[in-house]
Amino acid sequence: MPRETNAHKFERAIEIEQRMCQHYPAAECALRYWDDPFRLTIAVMLSAQTTDAGVNKVTPALWERYPTIADLAQADPSEVAQIISTIGCYRVKSNHAVSIAQMVMSDFGGQVPADMDKLQKLPGVGRKTANIVLNEGFGIVEGIAVDTHVNRIAHRLKLVPRDEDPSKTERALLKLYPREMWGPINHQWVLFGRQTCTARRPNCGECFLSDLCPSCSCDGA
Ligand code: SF4
Repeated sequence: MPRETNAHKFERAIEIEQRMCQHYPAAECALRYWDDPFRLTIAVMLSAQTTDAGVNKVTPALWERYPTIADLAQADPSEVAQIISTIGCYRVKSNHAVSIAQMVMSDFGGQVPADMDKLQKLPGVGRKTANIVLNEGFGIVEGIAVDTHVNRIAHRLKLVPRDEDPSKTERALLKLYPREMWGPINHQWVLFGRQTCTARRPNCGECFLSDLCPSCSCDGA
């Protein structure tokens, strides 16, 4: 197969995102966070290697027990762990949750910072989480949150280099897409990754991107 030109890849990428917008015009965050950037930060941190539905099951009890940031900052991590024990890595995450609350109180005046670098200083918060908190919680779009779905889909569509490091995937996507397209990509591609381009068995036969995808298995399936 001849090497794709940058111009063709760019056109293909734009067409892909336009179709995503048609199929998922109102894609939104599946995590419950009560319009509160702090609760959003904790929910996204908790969602690593766990389903959003699983997180949504534990957070109502968490916020009932610790309604404010100050309450959670004073919590015993082992009690937090009991509340969130049904999600993966709950012990580490309970420590992170309390530490995040403590740092928000001590370093950021009790407010989650609307700043990429400051957000990433919070325990358990990396660039993916910071991107989601900025975008969803503050309406600030500084990048594209690359989680396992976005990373997989970007590679199957051969929009990014082979390296699977999410930070490299993000950099490649940011170069490919104009800034006004960055905002919805995470939520749309997560839905697409759950419904169609799944990790184990992508449904290429029903995929609305099959004519744009070099990995499509339609013919061979
Ligand atoms: S054609 Fe198949 S591999 Fe390509 S994006 Fe669609 S589901 Fe994924």
